[in-house]
Amino acid sequence: MTAASDYQLSTKSPQLLRARCVAPVSRPPIADGAVKISGQRIVAVGAWRQFSAAERQRATDLGDVVLLPGLVNAHCHLDYTGMAGEFVPPRHFTDWLKLIVAAKGTRSDAEFAADWRCGAAMLLRTGTTTVADIEALPQLLPAAWEATPLRIISFLEMTGIKARRAPQAIIQEAAEKIAALPKNFHRRAGLSPHAPYSTTPELLRRSAQAARRRRWRITTHVAESPEEFEMFMHARGRMFDWLRLNDRNASDCGLGSPIQHLDRAGLLGKNFLAVHANCLAPGDAARLARRGASVVHCPRSHSFFGHPKFPFAALTAAGVNVCLGTDSLASLEPKRKQPLELNLFSELRSFARKNPRIAARAILRLATVNGARALGLAGKLGELTPRAYADLIALPYTGDTAGVHDAIINHGRAVTASMIGGHWAIAPKS
Ligand SMILES: [Zn+2]
Repeated sequence: MTAASDYQLSTKSPQLLRARCVAPVSRPPIADGAVKISGQRIVAVGAWRQFSAAERQRATDLGDVVLLPGLVNAHCHLDYTGMAGEFVPPRHFTDWLKLIVAAKGTRSDAEFAADWRCGAAMLLRTGTTTVADIEALPQLLPAAWEATPLRIISFLEMTGIKARRAPQAIIQEAAEKIAALPKNFHRRAGLSPHAPYSTTPELLRRSAQAARRRRWRITTHVAESPEEFEMFMHARGRMFDWLRLNDRNASDCGLGSPIQHLDRAGLLGKNFLAVHANCLAPGDAARLARRGASVVHCPRSHSFFGHPKFPFAALTAAGVNVCLGTDSLASLEPKRKQPLELNLFSELRSFARKNPRIAARAILRLATVNGARALGLAGKLGELTPRAYADLIALPYTGDTAGVHDAIINHGRAVTASMIGGHWAIAPKS
């Protein structure tokens, strides 16, 4: 084992956290482990006994907990948190789209802002430290950012089909908004052309160009439902008919799969997060892998709609980076006596139930290192390793290292502590 001292990077204002178990994710778990932090970053990870007596004297002993990286939620809509339980699973995806468009029209900005904050608080107490959030109401920023300690990448949502605005004007407006936001590593912004069906090919093309030029991440809902797949593959079906009624130009339909549609627009690249990707044509998984795009799977939202089986095996076999998101509370089925909550542990459990042969450690990677990679932050987030940001969470744990990943996946409650960038967002009880 490498000595803890080998990882030393800095001794400036260090703090040492001791835990019954440390699960770095990118390395095997460590019994009686410790994480040394200086400023915003981790400088050492190792066994408690490897640290010097002077370091140990100043340590914070967290006791019977497992310390692991804060979870990375790669897809969320915080502003829809107030729609929890408003909808039952629809028979057709298009019906749900109509309902949510109507529901959005009944709320004020102040209500959306309160819902956003409520969602952020849910994520924080359930272990998320970084969230990629779709902002349907960019006017809530940057005030919303200031209301939470979460690390946030805000993707500004763009549609344009209904408003019939010129793509150039839509992107210009988003670029001006992003330029006006405060810049730091803790909060960033990117673009989210909503979906192939709700955008024009020109908006997709120009978004891809702008994101590449300005080094933004970009994300789109794609290949979510069979109705969307049918619309782009065959220029027919329920979604196609509904959008034709709304005068959507159909000249981009019948040309291939939704993934191929995005590829033609130049959207697929290393900076791209494809959300859902449930309905793939032959060759789509290889296409995503070739371009270096990531896929975000939202297990509970997937169940709500009863979408076709998520092609996890095909995507990972092709080499696609797959990560997890919560999606919004508007696509979660209410359960009796259980309030709906944005909770990545619930997503991990839902994924584990549907994929019983996949090891818990591999499942945990989806919500940690893979999410960080999708956001261009590999090595900086999603793992406990020297030079990474000190984003970590603690869960109660009294077992040994062998069972720790299973215990993490099955964790059902709030975390006992959460640190973001070296600061306690939820302080441990002393
Ligand atoms: Zn979504």
